[in-house]
Amino acid sequence: MFIGHYGPALAAKSLVRQLPLWLLFVAVQWLDFCWSALVLLGVEKVRIVPGFTQASALDLYYMPFTHGLIGALALAAVFGAAGSMIVRTRRVAAFAVLAAAVFSHWLLDLVVHMPDLPLIDDQMKVGFGLWRWIWISLPLELALLVAGAVIYARAVPSRTRFGDTGLWVFVAAMGVVELYGAFGPPPATPAAQALTALTAYCVLGLLAGLVDWGRGTVRG
Ligand SMILES: [Zn+2]
Repeated sequence: MFIGHYGPALAAKSLVRQLPLWLLFVAVQWLDFCWSALVLLGVEKVRIVPGFTQASALDLYYMPFTHGLIGALALAAVFGAAGSMIVRTRRVAAFAVLAAAVFSHWLLDLVVHMPDLPLIDDQMKVGFGLWRWIWISLPLELALLVAGAVIYARAVPSRTRFGDTGLWVFVAAMGVVELYGAFGPPPATPAAQALTALTAYCVLGLLAGLVDWGRGTVRG
């Protein structure tokens, strides 16, 4: 799952509005930020197998630290604790929302990944494998994204004229990125995949910050 992860990020803003959207965008991809770093360092492993599933060419055969259940829970707790420092009030709520946003990544990966998410160490791998059917996984991702955006738009009404336009242009652009990811060429190497993912997550986080700011709703 790629763009679908951002549905929970957008929706989560309705729970603690002090949280900047860019931070929620980083939260929902935090496991993949760490995964990209560990792949570049050669700690976690992936091989590119064109046609591995209809929606992804990644055979994610070793990623116990970032996508194991225990590792994911630990990364969620650490991110929640660090991220909640950014708000001055409602720190406990901010911790809970940020940690849940990070862990939502694991739950959504569970739905689409092949059994590559280990429950303990590198053992007992789970994954429902929806990526085998792109015409199920793709609409699911887009639906999650749009549902999140609708919740965000209602919870955080724009105070500026172009706030809603900005939001929906951003959502449409993310849809195009998803289509490219699904139907574009597979990545050349694991390192190329990791770098592309890191770049995409940073750019999307930055744009999310702009969208949030453009609605005139960002508070300190
Ligand atoms: Zn992931």
